[in-house]
Amino acid sequence: MARRIGILGGTFNPVHIGHLRGALEVAEFMALDELRLIPSARPPHREAPQATAEQRLAMVELAVAGEPRLAVDDRELKRDKPSFTYDTLESVRGELAADDQLFLLLGWDAFCGLPTWHRWQELLVHCHILVLQRPDADSEPPEALRDLLAARSVTDPQGLLGPSGQISFIWQTPLAVSATLVRQLLAQGRSVRFLVPDAVLAYIHAHDLYRAKTDS
Ligand code: ATP
Repeated sequence: MARRIGILGGTFNPVHIGHLRGALEVAEFMALDELRLIPSARPPHREAPQATAEQRLAMVELAVAGEPRLAVDDRELKRDKPSFTYDTLESVRGELAADDQLFLLLGWDAFCGLPTWHRWQELLVHCHILVLQRPDADSEPPEALRDLLAARSVTDPQGLLGPSGQISFIWQTPLAVSATLVRQLLAQGRSVRFLVPDAVLAYIHAHDLYRAKTDS
């Protein structure tokens, strides 16, 4: 029987409840066999993160431990070249059966940035795209995505057919949390309890991450 695999890439700097709760709800709603969180090594569009790749990976591993629907995939950290999403999808797809369904989860902000991505128009060769809302984001997609949406979007995400090729918008509990917010709070010496899992919080404190550095 065809499997249903989801992937959520990101810097996870650090992983937070917006990622985790969204991923879990999508995994349940879409009846995925597995949803893999894929930390990026050298994100092509972002400034270098403050935690190391190994630390970001360790936090994602702690976050999903004991949750059978979620898994961690470290393939982007094993590469020595930039981790383009297209390459990751091609690599994951190469390990699946031809009729397995692959779903790429993108937050709305990431989806809106799609036209700047390497080979973005070919992503749908390998996967379907599920767009997650972000409560703090604009509501209009960029002009460059209009034709793609007109040609490929499907109203009901549960109606996505075949291994790849379509786009749907998916509802999940809106959580206006970002890694930027988590880092800002920590830099101000404030608590991020309940914005990240307790195990991640303990790791952040144990490794003294994201604190504003003082000269004293
Ligand atoms: P930063 O604040 O550092 O930009 P981030 O919180 O957006 O980070 P990323 O690791 O860049 O986190 O996000 C990975 C993916 O998860 C992206 O597709 C992003 O849109 C999505 N995402 C992140 N936070 C949320 C959230 N609160 N709700 C829905 N999707 C989210």
